[in-house]
Amino acid sequence: MIRELTQKVRVLQGRRIACEHCGGAYTYLAGEQRKFSTTGTVLVDSDERMSQALAKRARKHLLEQDRRPRWGEGLCPHCRRYQRWMVRSSRVGPSLRWGIGLFLASWCFSPVAAGSIGGPAGTAVLLLVPAAAGALGVWIGFRRALPAGVARGREDPFSITDDDARGLLRHCRAIDGDPLLEWYLHVHEGFPGDELVLPIGFRDLTGEEFFPAEVGSARVLAEG
Ligand SMILES: [Zn+2]
Repeated sequence: MIRELTQKVRVLQGRRIACEHCGGAYTYLAGEQRKFSTTGTVLVDSDERMSQALAKRARKHLLEQDRRPRWGEGLCPHCRRYQRWMVRSSRVGPSLRWGIGLFLASWCFSPVAAGSIGGPAGTAVLLLVPAAAGALGVWIGFRRALPAGVARGREDPFSITDDDARGLLRHCRAIDGDPLLEWYLHVHEGFPGDELVLPIGFRDLTGEEFFPAEVGSARVLAEG
């Protein structure tokens, strides 16, 4: 008999980049929620063996995420703009979801309308309504994406300047806390109940090695 072990994980990584618009460096909290699962055979695979298999799978994924040059999103605290690649990737998911969703919804409805109208007009309804609904969905998805220009009035507590990052690291050294968990808690005041929150350190993509090695993702993932 096959059994499955599943764990929901929220991964956090602090990433420092140089803004492509103003050149200023800043650190943002990249993150994702992901479900890891592994299967085993009852009486053959122990809990420990399955947990190890799960940890191995998660670790492989985290190493891949760490190497990704582009991950997550964060508003530049200096010029208050998102990087172009962040805006682009925020458009893809919502546009596809809304586009396909509205297309399918109207696809179900249009044969009824076409049947009641009949003739060439009915055929036009059958073809044009789903196409128009799909296009409307893509447009709605675009509107819900990150703004391409200056985001006035928008706050991003998960995006900080070098001074704030130094302050965060200093504070966490004093209290012996994990800076990513402290940062997350400072904004959310609690962890989601059914998720394992996994901080994987900081990564400086500017090449300046801003972060001390002990909080760097290379060290954290090597210890993992
Ligand atoms: Zn900027």
